[in-house]
Amino acid sequence: MINNNSTSRRDFVKGVGAGVLTIGASSFATSVMATKAKPDKLGIALVGLGNYATNQLAPALTVADNAYLAGIVTGTPAKANIWADKYALDDSHIYNYDNFDKIITDKGIDIVYVVLPNSMHKEFVIRAAKAGKHVITEKPMGLTAVECEEMIAACEKAGVQLSVGYRLQFEPNTLEIEKAAKELPLGPINYVRSEFSFTIGNPKQWRLKKELSGGGPIMDIGIYCIQAARYTTGLEPIAVRAVEYKTDYEKFSSVEETVMWQMEFPGGLYSNHTTSYSMKANELFVSYQKGNARLEPAYSYANVGGHIGERQLMPHQVNQQALQMDNFVECIRQNKTSKVSGKEGLQDMKIVDAIYKSIANGGKRVEV
Ligand code: NAD
Repeated sequence: MINNNSTSRRDFVKGVGAGVLTIGASSFATSVMATKAKPDKLGIALVGLGNYATNQLAPALTVADNAYLAGIVTGTPAKANIWADKYALDDSHIYNYDNFDKIITDKGIDIVYVVLPNSMHKEFVIRAAKAGKHVITEKPMGLTAVECEEMIAACEKAGVQLSVGYRLQFEPNTLEIEKAAKELPLGPINYVRSEFSFTIGNPKQWRLKKELSGGGPIMDIGIYCIQAARYTTGLEPIAVRAVEYKTDYEKFSSVEETVMWQMEFPGGLYSNHTTSYSMKANELFVSYQKGNARLEPAYSYANVGGHIGERQLMPHQVNQQALQMDNFVECIRQNKTSKVSGKEGLQDMKIVDAIYKSIANGGKRVEV
């Protein structure tokens, strides 16, 4: 499953000559966006240089206050060359999936950020913890709650902090919704609805292979709705009911295409959700006793906005990923648990496990 390649950048460069470097670099960007070590910043190594790492996390690390891109872990030597040039990375901070454990002696790397397909999160979080590095893993934290528990235990044993890439918990308008759950300016919450869907392309991608993704849209983007229902209400669900349906049995042969589910919270509060790889939706709606709130888009990298009661929530020009990583560094420095710690990821996976159980039981109520 692992995209192994044990050729080091140094060996690769030695073997094929500089011509390949130039050709490879031209498809990315040739300007060096150095994020040189600074004494007041912690160094992050990104593991897996796919779309999210390339287009969101690495750029965020050029504007973050507390962290910088200090290293990379990749199975593709050509990517290593391009990234090394673009981010002025020394060969000594470049790893592949096989020699990754050598990172234990790399004093320049404080945090490992796992940005691989979901089924690989657990392995690399545990290896990073054993190497004594603090860890951020992308969502979903693991494939099941049991996996998440193993990841948390490994980090606790190693004495390192673990966090999940829940960037929205640092987005200002999302924080307004979270604050309303605590301060209740519009009275108690009596209903939540949220949908997150997109139409998925390439039928051969890992997101559609259960052994790599662990599941379909519920694992990938439905998890944002689960998160939102929790931070919108400040409550934990006690039970779920869920159903799935498919229109394309070939494309979605191993994962679900669309899931509709309901979460039941203490006190008779309910939330309703849809997530799909065949629709387009990106919305959070909250009903309070004296008004409502709505974010649309609710889950995008930018332009999260809407209203709460009479007040407009204009989009903020912030880099969510930079805020998220900066906050993690502050937590490490202050020895404080991150608000998006492994326990937060575990709770979401307990809910996902219950959703899959309910689907398997024809939509029956399943306690979380
Ligand atoms: P991607 O397909 O673009 O990148 C995956 C990376 O993993 C690639 O570099 C690929 O080479 C590598 N890889 C290693 N072994 C592989 C294998 N066996 N099969 C496929 N790829 C393999 O995916 P992505 O969109 O960057 O997603 C990576 C992770 O980030 C996922 O867990 C995803 O849920 C998460 N993500 C989070 C956000 C967010 O907003 N927080 C957004 C997008 C993705």
